[in-house]
Amino acid sequence: MSDLIVEKTISDSKDCPCASAKPVHELIPTHKAMIGEGLTIRRALPHAQRRMIGAWCFLDHFGPLDLSTGNGLNIAPHPHMGLQTFTWLLAGEILHRDSLGYNQIIQPGQVNLMTSGYGIAHSEESLPDTLLHGVQLWIALPDSFRNETAAFEHHEQMPVIHKDGLKITVLAGDFLQLHAPTTVHSPMMGLDLQAESDVTTTLPLNPEFEYGLLPLMGDAQVEDVHVDMEHLIYLGCGRKELNISMPNNARAILIGGKPFAEEILMWWNFVARTKEEIVQGVNDWNNHTRFGEVKDYGSGRLNAPDAPIK
Ligand code: MN
Repeated sequence: MSDLIVEKTISDSKDCPCASAKPVHELIPTHKAMIGEGLTIRRALPHAQRRMIGAWCFLDHFGPLDLSTGNGLNIAPHPHMGLQTFTWLLAGEILHRDSLGYNQIIQPGQVNLMTSGYGIAHSEESLPDTLLHGVQLWIALPDSFRNETAAFEHHEQMPVIHKDGLKITVLAGDFLQLHAPTTVHSPMMGLDLQAESDVTTTLPLNPEFEYGLLPLMGDAQVEDVHVDMEHLIYLGCGRKELNISMPNNARAILIGGKPFAEEILMWWNFVARTKEEIVQGVNDWNNHTRFGEVKDYGSGRLNAPDAPIK
């Protein structure tokens, strides 16, 4: 994904409240953003109230979009640095191409995980399905890993466990006896929760992790709080377990991780530590001196917008 509406100022993780050491119920409204011409999505992270949950620093929920009447998703080549992009679909297909030479279609139930390291470029195009529905998350890379070589992983199948009528897919980290095959670089986890009946259950959590839950289809009841699709609920740290209820066919994503110890700057498609790094990224992309080129994409690439004011 890539932002079309570009903020003039940098999003700084130190400007928002620290991770809560205690359990909380903080409802954060999602806001609309554009990721392509006429393609409006709901962004849950970053938000002025909450920039990160563990290393998860970006959460876009797109769709369900009816592609039979629109143009679909078509994001021309653009760069990333300092982060991983994590794509997970509920419906439809997306073709990913990148500057390492990967051309990979992703379908529901699969994961595309792109690790930018110091720099990578990619394009993202929906294929002509009727519906497109999914999420893209970004994961901030720790300082010790953020300047490493770029990499790309596609996972055909993710580990699944059934509990009390809930189909749980482990997207990152560990849950119960399962371990996700996705390579991450800080202590974190992610689950897709799919209700196969009316469900009330208890999920074991790690008290050292902070967590957040975003409904993707239908609503969810998290402890005594009703959460609709317009809100992410931030839960803080300090829980050993979480009681949730979801109606049949509802879907949600639960993300968590150890509070990220490093302050990060986010702007456009970059995660950095200083403004100078962001300006360098803009210049390097526009001058074709870093990030590489995406071959086989029709034509054109996104220009980096003017560097941020502050
Ligand atoms: Mn992208």
